[in-house]
Amino acid sequence: MDHGVIVDVEATRSIRQAEVGSTKTMLNRVKANFDLHPERLIADTAYGTGPMLGWLVGQKIAPHIPVFDKSGRNDGTWTRADFEWDAENDQYICPEGHELKQFRRNYSDPNRGPSGKGTARYRALKVVCQACPSKLKCCPNADAR
Ligand code: SF4
Repeated sequence: MDHGVIVDVEATRSIRQAEVGSTKTMLNRVKANFDLHPERLIADTAYGTGPMLGWLVGQKIAPHIPVFDKSGRNDGTWTRADFEWDAENDQYICPEGHELKQFRRNYSDPNRGPSGKGTARYRALKVVCQACPSKLKCCPNADAR
């Protein structure tokens, strides 16, 4: 890079939602003011949420942003890395070999589908987890994983 030019500034409080919102504001403003449209955007993990990454891709801006990963656990229970991803069937397989699914039926009501918040929850069946010998290592404080 030969030149670094500041083309816009948007001050916010240091909370993630405001910073993410300001990014959209600045991108829209430099497009309107200077007809500039970046090919890529570099930012830290705080910007790596599903909705933000999805919005950038929708704008045809390649995100160079680490994904904000909330899958880690620090209470000694199994983390997502202990579960096997089965892409073909859109499910995880737990260490005991059982399925965790987002949905177990096809809903005709669109309000009962994906959360719309950029997150997806994969769940095991309560009846299966209740009888599981590994429940204490997996989900000791919940009915099911
Ligand atoms: S508690 Fe449920 S999800 Fe966890 S290992 Fe057992 S069956 Fe699988």
